[in-house]
Amino acid sequence: MPAIATTHSLNDYRKLVISNYRDQLRNSSAKSIEFSYTHRSKPYQYSIQLSKISCNYGGHRYWWLCPKCNQRTSTLYYAGLYVCRHCIGANYGSQLQQPIDRIYSKLNAIRAHMGWQVGVIHGIGERPKGMHAKTYNRLLKEYEHLEQKIIGAHYATT
Ligand SMILES: [Zn+2]
Repeated sequence: MPAIATTHSLNDYRKLVISNYRDQLRNSSAKSIEFSYTHRSKPYQYSIQLSKISCNYGGHRYWWLCPKCNQRTSTLYYAGLYVCRHCIGANYGSQLQQPIDRIYSKLNAIRAHMGWQVGVIHGIGERPKGMHAKTYNRLLKEYEHLEQKIIGAHYATT
């Protein structure tokens, strides 16, 4: 298996999908999951960190943190180590980002613009000083729209 992707399909890689672990994680406070296996007669033993995100409408959900770049992702791909699709090969640009991640990026961009805590989807903050109410309302509306999409995607995939 090449370390750098030469195909145009991520389907060629073995996947680790976080939703397969959700039941197991539901009542735990695990911060990582241990992996131990052999790849090309080299032993691998490491843990993959988890990110636990609260949802607006109660509960929370887990994400992987890519062992290489530490980005939050729902799916890791096997290339000796399990890594996110960005790390699996430089050939994969943002056009291959999954929609959910693009939504997260937009959402985080709004949060950053507003001066709110980045990396969470809950908690709408105050209008920043110096921002017009009109701008704030427009961003807020867009934010809520994106948030709904994420929540919708969550229920569609689990
Ligand atoms: Zn990565």
